[in-house]
Amino acid sequence: MGRITEASLEEVRERIDFVELVREYVPSLKKAGRDFKACCPFHQEKTPSFYVVPEKGIFHCFGCEAGGNVFGFLMKIEGLSYVEAVEKLAERAGVRLVRPERALDPQEKERLSLRRVLEFAREHYHSQLLRLPEADAARRYFAKRGLAKETIEAFKLGYAARSGGLLPAATRQGFGKELLTRCGLASEREGRLREHFWARVLFPILNARGEVCGFGGRVLGDDEPKYLNSPDNVMFSKGRVLYGFHEALPTIRKERHALLLEGYMDVLAAHQAGFRNACAPLGTALTEDHAALLKRHVDRVTFLFDPDAAGVRAAVRGGELMMERGVGVALATVPDGLDPDELLQRGGPESLKSVLAAAEDLVSFQTRFLLGNEAKLSPEQKAAFAARILETIAKCPDEVLKSEWLSRLAQRLKTDEGSLRLQLRKLSSGGGKTPVRRHAAAASPAPSSAGQPMPAEDRDILFCLLRSPALSASEELVDEADFSDERACRIFLRLRSAVGVPDSAKGGGARWIAGFLESLEPADASAARSLLCDRRECGDPARLVSDIVGRLRKKRRLAELEPLIFGKTKSGPVDPDIVTEYKRLCSELQGAQRNTR
Ligand SMILES: [Zn+2]
Repeated sequence: MGRITEASLEEVRERIDFVELVREYVPSLKKAGRDFKACCPFHQEKTPSFYVVPEKGIFHCFGCEAGGNVFGFLMKIEGLSYVEAVEKLAERAGVRLVRPERALDPQEKERLSLRRVLEFAREHYHSQLLRLPEADAARRYFAKRGLAKETIEAFKLGYAARSGGLLPAATRQGFGKELLTRCGLASEREGRLREHFWARVLFPILNARGEVCGFGGRVLGDDEPKYLNSPDNVMFSKGRVLYGFHEALPTIRKERHALLLEGYMDVLAAHQAGFRNACAPLGTALTEDHAALLKRHVDRVTFLFDPDAAGVRAAVRGGELMMERGVGVALATVPDGLDPDELLQRGGPESLKSVLAAAEDLVSFQTRFLLGNEAKLSPEQKAAFAARILETIAKCPDEVLKSEWLSRLAQRLKTDEGSLRLQLRKLSSGGGKTPVRRHAAAASPAPSSAGQPMPAEDRDILFCLLRSPALSASEELVDEADFSDERACRIFLRLRSAVGVPDSAKGGGARWIAGFLESLEPADASAARSLLCDRRECGDPARLVSDIVGRLRKKRRLAELEPLIFGKTKSGPVDPDIVTEYKRLCSELQGAQRNTR
């Protein structure tokens, strides 16, 4: 067990305000009785089924069954490992974790070494930019593009010398060949180790956690290729990271809005001008992974890009990906063939502000871009245009917006709204690509891993016992055999043994609950959490359990008696006592039924 002591975990758990933490990611979290609820950040929904129960230190979603404690929440929302989540929260709580390095498993150990070598490379390249005489051209390049010293410092921009230099420096630090090739800083060719970057300015790329995971490089002269990234490797995947995202995250989270640009220089210029929510994909279109990452933190995104055909196509496609996830999308283009960083250099922050203020929604933008001011359209043009726009509209999860777009489209094309609607219905229900349905399926609750729902009696007993765990110690009140559902029985037995442990019998506090839930299989823990989050009143739990169990035991006895009375194999008279008992049980059960209805 624990490389990190239970005591320090406990200290972290106690010092972190769970509700405040969740609210940073889910601003819509609202008080509901003693708990807090919101629409779930882990699946798409319109009515809240995501609950945080601070007194028990847990969260649970009744829609997708996501749930866990404060560490589990951070792991899931930031995509961290358990150890990473603990470390992050410990830092936030100001708790020092004692963790000997040799206790790391081999995988963690490798990641740590790779992180160190990438970190070392960033420092190396950065100091080359600041100090190397040869880097003068690079320094002038950044100055000409209007980058301040502070920005160069904050983003740790770097320079890779024409003749290299990283390899000998890294070797002196004890980093082996294997490590340098594993993270894409070098590669072996014709038996020689070569550096991946040379004669380029470098933009260190951080993952969402703020760790250096790779670099983007740009040549200063006319060499080819103009841009070169780290090759994809265990640490770096181009389709998953966004340049500037980590730096932008505090602002993105606060404003629930991200500004998506195209290039490294654009992101730097935007941050420098106060647009601190800016980030950019690394020379690719937005991917599903990017969209999923953004969706966790934003309600809105604005795309700002070159108005050339490739830029437009990439932005529309990215916009559709975000829209499918229920994120508001706006598109803006920079006028006069400028890059955002050129625009900022010429006109300052105000100029970018007014460009962003003129951003349009997906349909207006496509209409303007594809049709321009074209007044007269041939029937074929109309049909082709309608088909393209309907494809976008079909991806919109919001019915009101869909309807609004349809009527605007009908007006613009001077065509019948009814036929557009018909066409749309075909698109979203029938053949062709159906990303809409794919997402609807992903959003529906995950099938319970245990298959069948738990019978109502088992649920109710556990519901009461979880409120008063001490009750589970009494065999007279309730026992293993009283459960018909295997899962319920397993949870009960764990509960009984947890209560049996001296000192933990206080049962019910956040610390106790956390330990109890951790002792369960994931599917069982999910079922237990959903019961813990269930806020029905249960009055006197002991009495309720005794009622339910009493009824169950009577039913079971009835089932035992039945074959004795009605059994075909039974010959001779039936014992009158059995008949009396049978009748009594029947009427008692009926009476109980009436009382509970
Ligand atoms: Zn959910």
